[in-house]
Amino acid sequence: MRVAVVGGGSIGLAVAWRAAQAGAEVVVHDPEPGSGASRVAAGMIAPVTESHYGETALTPFMAASADAWPAFARELEAASGLPVGFRDIPTVVVGVEDGDRAEVERQTELYRETGRGVEVLGGRAIRKAEPLLSHRVRAGVLASEDRAVDPRAVHAALLVAAECAGVGFAAGEVAEGEVADLGALDADQVVIAAGCGSARFGLPVRPVRGVVLRLRAAAGQAVPRTTVRGYVKGQSVYIVTRENGEVVVGATSDERGFDRTTGTAGAVHDLLRWSIALVPEIAEYHLGEVTVGFRPGTPDNLPIIGRLGPRLTAATGHYRNGIALIPATADATAAILRDEAPETVAPFDPARFGPPVPGPAVPDFGAGPAPAATGFEGSREPRPEPKSAAPDTRVPRGSDSSGLGRFAGSAEHRRAADSSAPESTVPRGSDSSSDREEM
Ligand SMILES: Cc1cc2nc3c(=O)[nH]c(=O)nc-3n(C[C@H](O)[C@H](O)[C@H](O)COP(=O)(O)OP(=O)(O)OC[C@H]3O[C@@H](n4cnc5c(N)ncnc54)[C@H](O)[C@@H]3O)c2cc1C
Repeated sequence: MRVAVVGGGSIGLAVAWRAAQAGAEVVVHDPEPGSGASRVAAGMIAPVTESHYGETALTPFMAASADAWPAFARELEAASGLPVGFRDIPTVVVGVEDGDRAEVERQTELYRETGRGVEVLGGRAIRKAEPLLSHRVRAGVLASEDRAVDPRAVHAALLVAAECAGVGFAAGEVAEGEVADLGALDADQVVIAAGCGSARFGLPVRPVRGVVLRLRAAAGQAVPRTTVRGYVKGQSVYIVTRENGEVVVGATSDERGFDRTTGTAGAVHDLLRWSIALVPEIAEYHLGEVTVGFRPGTPDNLPIIGRLGPRLTAATGHYRNGIALIPATADATAAILRDEAPETVAPFDPARFGPPVPGPAVPDFGAGPAPAATGFEGSREPRPEPKSAAPDTRVPRGSDSSGLGRFAGSAEHRRAADSSAPESTVPRGSDSSSDREEM
C-alpha cells in the first residue's frame, strides 16, 4: 500500500512511522516539517489535569495514549538513537488565593472521574512534593500519573525513526485539489495530518493561539521537580521542567486567526507574573524564548480521527493534547488504513461534522517565534532536517480515483467550522510494534 501523509508534525510523522513499520510505502508531504504546534507545545501528557468539563469522550483515549507513552518513548529512542525527554514525574495543582483554591477543588472532582491517581495534600505535604512552591500555597493536588515529554525532541526522533523505517519526504505544500484528486499524490491512501492546515481540506479545524515561554536555569540553580499547574487570580498557568534545565511556562489561549504579531508583551508579562506567584525561583532564570503557536481546535474540542472516504483518512484536530495523543493516534490511524478502525476512535469520527468544506490555506507555515521586535536571541532554533529527503513524488494530476465526490460544502458545516469552542485556558514496558499487522 502506498500512503501519502499530508503534514509532518508529530501526528503525521508518528502515523507515517507506524504505517511504514507495518509495510506501507509512505511519503510525508510538508514544506517545513515540525514548524507547527508540535514545536511550541509544552509536552504535558496529562490525562488527569487536562480533563475538562464537556470533554469526557476524550478520557479513555487520553488514558490509553498516556499508558502507551512509556513504551512508545522507549521504542522511539531505540529506533532513532535520540532521547525524547520523557519524564515520569508527577504534577501538582495549586491555587494561591481563596478563589484559586476553590477552582482547584472544583477541578479535583473532575480529576477524580478519570479514575487515576489524585491525592489532595495540605501545605506541608504539597511543598514536600514540590519544594519550590511559594509559601503562600497552603494546599494542593498531586496527580501522580500525569507525565511529560520534550515535544521538540520527540519530533526530531520521529523524523529519524520514520526515515529509518523507509518513509520518504516531499517538500511541497499540498493543495486541496491534490487531496480531492488522489492521482496527484500518487498514493493508494492519503492521511490528512496537517494540524491547523487541515482546514484547507475541509475539516473544521481552527487555530487557537497560545504563547509559551522557554526559560533556562543556570547550572546548580534549583528547578521544579514536578510539573506545576495552578491558578493565580483566576488565570491558569503551568510550568514544565526538562531534565536539561529548560523550564517551559505556558500558556495563553485566544483566537485571533493566525496572528502572531500582537499581544505578546502582555502574554509575557502575565505568564511571568502568574508563574512567579506559584514558583518564585522562576524570577532567577534566563528568559530565552517567546513562542507563539496555534492549537488545532475543533468545534467540540475532540480530535478528528477516521475515514473521510474510501481512500482518505483524517488524523488531526488534536487541540491542546496532540503530544499526549501521539501513540494512540498513530496506532488507531494505522489500523484505520487497514480498515480496522478501533472502537476507541468512534467519538472522533469526522462524519459528526458532516461533509468537509475546504477552507483557506494556512497563510504562513510554521509556528515560529514572536516577531523580531521581541528581541529574544535564539528564539528560533534550527530544526533537524530529514537526513535524505526523498524526491517529491507528486505526479501530474490523473483521474479522480479517490471517491471523494463528497468534498462538497454545506452551510451547516461551515457554521460548525466557524463556531468557537470554549477553553478554560521511561518506565520500561513491552514493545507493542511486534503486534502490528502487515499492510
Ligand atoms: C502553546 C501550546 C501549548 C501546547 N501544549 C501541549 C501540551 O503540553 N501537551 C499536548 O499534548 N499538546 C500540547 N499542545 C497541542 C499540540 O501542540 C498539538 O495538538 C499538536 O502539536 C498537533 O500536532 P500536529 O502534527 O497535528 O500539527 P502540527 O504540529 O501543527 O503540524 C502540522 C504540520 O502540517 C504542515 N502542513 C500544514 N498545511 C499543509 C499543507 N497544505 N501541505 C503540507 N503540509 C502542511 C505544517 O507545515 C506542519 O508541519 C500545545 C499547543 C500549543 C500551541
